[in-house]
Amino acid sequence: MKYRSTRDFSQEAVSAQAIAQGICEDGGLFVPETFPKLTQQDFIFLQNADYQTRAQKILSMYLTDFSADEIEDCVKRAYTEEKFPGGPAPLSLVNIDSANLYLLELWHGPTCAFKDMALQLLPHLLTKSLQKIQANKTAIILVATSGDTGKAALEGFRDVPGTKILVFYPEDGVSPMQKRQMVTQEGKNVFVCAIAGNFDDAQSGVKKLFTDSEIRQKLSECGEMFSSANSINLGRLLPQIVYYISAYCDLVKESRIKEGEQVNVVVPTGNFGNILAAFYAKQMGLPVHKLICASNSNNVLTDFIRTGIYDRNRTFYTTISPSMDILISSNLERLLSHLTKSDCQVREWMDSLSKTGRYEVTDSVKVSLKDLFWAGCCSDQNTKQTIHNLFCDEHYLCDPHTAVAVNVYHQYLSETKDEKIPAIIASTASPYKFSDNVLSAILEKPYDSENDFQKAVKLSELSDTEIPEPIKALSDKKVRFTESCHPEEMKQEVLKFSDAE
Ligand SMILES: *Cc1c(COP(=O)(O)O)cnc(C)c1O
Repeated sequence: MKYRSTRDFSQEAVSAQAIAQGICEDGGLFVPETFPKLTQQDFIFLQNADYQTRAQKILSMYLTDFSADEIEDCVKRAYTEEKFPGGPAPLSLVNIDSANLYLLELWHGPTCAFKDMALQLLPHLLTKSLQKIQANKTAIILVATSGDTGKAALEGFRDVPGTKILVFYPEDGVSPMQKRQMVTQEGKNVFVCAIAGNFDDAQSGVKKLFTDSEIRQKLSECGEMFSSANSINLGRLLPQIVYYISAYCDLVKESRIKEGEQVNVVVPTGNFGNILAAFYAKQMGLPVHKLICASNSNNVLTDFIRTGIYDRNRTFYTTISPSMDILISSNLERLLSHLTKSDCQVREWMDSLSKTGRYEVTDSVKVSLKDLFWAGCCSDQNTKQTIHNLFCDEHYLCDPHTAVAVNVYHQYLSETKDEKIPAIIASTASPYKFSDNVLSAILEKPYDSENDFQKAVKLSELSDTEIPEPIKALSDKKVRFTESCHPEEMKQEVLKFSDAE
């Protein structure tokens, strides 16, 4: 399997190269040339396998330059019961009422967000990739985070030999719990810094650093190189394909659906990584009817899927689902590459995006978008209402990101009346990461208390659910990182952290 740049198909790489590098030198993203296909035998094999075996099988179809032993080793280290307590699989599938609706809880890992599913595996894939391409270099993992990526990446890479990790987060764009998770991070190879700006500033800053030849040269001279743990890294994308296929296999195995029966997949979306993985699963042969793309008030993707016009020139909102507060959805570039099969076309649109903040796709891409996707968005007020209703009607506690998806799914149902097709909704974070807003949504008024931990305790009492261990443990941890900088100063921060200065 070959990977190539979305902006220049002549730039090719094997998966180890793509994972080690993170992003292509021309600023494009690595995409597979073709999609491997799952046969009926594959589906039968997968149905009868456990999660780890499913992951090995699916990853082996993409990581063709890895040996079976190497993949097995990575998977076994990533998805342990110690890191994902509560069952043999790192996820669970919860049926809501007797409705045709399944919440795919992807947040049982060490940081209580779905990103653990990929970020517990990525460090192992990355260190193996570095060995394979014989880069005898320390990888500096540079991360821009809207909240959950930062913590999940820090936890995945902490004390992994041959790596260092530096995380930038927007000062006022993450929840208090998310911030606390990051600034208390342990490990010898970690650094965390706030940015005076929003997520897009942090992400643009990181992207610029990746393509800054001066800093790359400096790092290279002292035996270091950049790599990325953001969702633009192929090694983030591939592990996410697994859980959609796995969830489908479980539904078949439990006789909830028939083999080959179609499902809808609903994903609360920010950088378009998670929903892109569902698109990849569909391309591999998973019977997905519609990919339903759910956004908060930052609804640039809703408009794009409905009209074919991407326009980031709009107000940026800080919402109660901060991990989706994004106006430049990086992974969309991969979708455009697959739909157009043209590097020139994608390069032209990405140029236009960086120059004018806007582009319009061709009619044929508009048709494909309509065919594959349905999109909707949800305000903070409706998000809270959804959390409230789900709790009161079904006694199910969900976080604001998942609530956006549930709300948009209801919009989809009322528009299409497509009730017969079962839906899998990606549940992306533990409600306890957002205790403040979840609690006030349930009570329909703010809950006065000193701190977030008391709110978590109250939430636990009300809902009769356990506070996850990683969140309980936070209350005793020391703050280690108080640094903050302007977006223009990110380069200096990186140089300070590297061996170059
Ligand atoms: C990152 C994140 C999202 C958005 O995922 P993308 O892959 O960026 O679309 C949604 N919900 C939560 C809780 C997240 O952490």
